[in-house]
Amino acid sequence: MSRACRNIAILGSTGSIGRNSLEVIRNLPERFHVSVLTTYSNVELLAEQAQEFHPAVVVVLDESKAVSLRRSVPKGTTVLIGKDALLEVVRRDDVDLVLNSLVGFAGLRPTVEAIRSRKNVALANKESLVVAGAAVTALVQEYGVRLVPIDSEHSAIMQCLLGEEANPPAKLILTASGGPFLHTPIGEFGQITVEQALRHPNWKMGHKITIDSATLMNKGLEVIEAHWLFGLPPERIDVVIHPQSIIHSMVEFVDGSVKAQLGLPDMKIPIQYALTYPERLPLNGGRVNFPELHSMTFFTPDRSKFRCLQLAYDALAVGGTAPSVLNAANEVAVEAFLGGRVSFQRIPELIEEALASQIVRSSSALADVVDADHETRKFVRTLFSERVLS
Ligand code: MG
Repeated sequence: MSRACRNIAILGSTGSIGRNSLEVIRNLPERFHVSVLTTYSNVELLAEQAQEFHPAVVVVLDESKAVSLRRSVPKGTTVLIGKDALLEVVRRDDVDLVLNSLVGFAGLRPTVEAIRSRKNVALANKESLVVAGAAVTALVQEYGVRLVPIDSEHSAIMQCLLGEEANPPAKLILTASGGPFLHTPIGEFGQITVEQALRHPNWKMGHKITIDSATLMNKGLEVIEAHWLFGLPPERIDVVIHPQSIIHSMVEFVDGSVKAQLGLPDMKIPIQYALTYPERLPLNGGRVNFPELHSMTFFTPDRSKFRCLQLAYDALAVGGTAPSVLNAANEVAVEAFLGGRVSFQRIPELIEEALASQIVRSSSALADVVDADHETRKFVRTLFSERVLS
């Protein structure tokens, strides 16, 4: 069956998801045309990508890199600069589908703008839903667009729910690799270095999400993301540690039957599925070899050791601006950890202090969750600049 070629904007094309997305698209040239590519500051890679895919527009957020980018893009590619350009490009008529793989809260405004411009969204920026899940899901309904998750867990759940429209799930079970400190005693958490935290056992990803995987905050954010995508309350969303990362998540139904989606930990699988949904197309790569796999193991995460996971459940239960506060505090804390300014252990403490502050309010309106983000960033920075020894 021949399908029309779709025009795609990839926000964050030089990151891990962006690079994997272009690998997928490279193999489906008759299906996708790249209209827009963007980067924060990696203009060397963006220029290479532009030479290969010939987008109409590229965006760089770091203004100081614009001159060198202008010199290296092909003729016919326009260079735009700055955050507002991300909003401008998703509105373009030559964009049908926006793949948002920006990191953190910065992804929210482009997601909202894409929906309001009636563009379908392939979402890797989970923070859009964590921070503003109520507003974003309401906009998706209002504008009648499709929002398909790229996150492997949510892609798995979506696949398990296919054909089950009449059977609401009893429980969602998100799997987690457990990260590099699964077996590290909590007494040693104070000595964890940045280098150790960046060594993820199964997935190769950007720095922010790798630290979030080490604290299990990534799974906490995914619980919130799952709540907004699939409409289940927090007490019906479980997390189970599965170090092999072969089962990407599961759905339990009312009769006790469980459906799981399996595959090798390769982001190209959920990316391609989000782009071609509901169709499946061939994809080169490894295949699960069950005899070689030999065994799969599962256990309950220790929420007192991985405090961030519990804090995410707490924030979801409180609602209102709490998830926005959780996310902003985490972004500031992780950046401070990566910069050597606070210890690994201090990350959940800073988040907990922000969640206990007056910034948490009951409104989940877009303007209020955005304000809560900004207030939390200021608040958390005062917490660690006051205490040099963290
Ligand atoms: Mg994930």
